[in-house]
Amino acid sequence: MDRVSVWDHNVDATCGLCNASPESRNHLFFGCSYSSQLWEYLSYGLLRSSYSNDWSSIMPLLCQDDKGRKWSFCIRYAFQACLYAIWRERNKIKHGERATPVTILKKLVAKSIRNKLSLIENYRRKGMEGVLIFWFEARS
Ligand SMILES: [Zn+2]
Repeated sequence: MDRVSVWDHNVDATCGLCNASPESRNHLFFGCSYSSQLWEYLSYGLLRSSYSNDWSSIMPLLCQDDKGRKWSFCIRYAFQACLYAIWRERNKIKHGERATPVTILKKLVAKSIRNKLSLIENYRRKGMEGVLIFWFEARS
């Protein structure tokens, strides 16, 4: 919305998820008090001391290639699941619907990630053995 407001000054550029800040990419992902709760919930266990909710700091974290295949898959999948969920909630508000409470969204997205990891295990791909247990242990 920060980009739309450049050419349409009448548009409300406030973030509908928190109603507290202008909506920009960096705010939505994950400077916002709503979206940062989801990102922290899903990523903190994997990132620990390198955890960040700042977009430009997250990008290099996702590109690390020294953490193993399971770690890389989990953090990247968690990231894209967060992006998708936040963008969907953001669009629901734009269309007059209410956002899902973040406590419920956390559970829904975590469940979708578990389902994906369970599916991945069934493919028996090299380096991905026990990825579901890896996910649980990282986040416990
Ligand atoms: Zn916000």
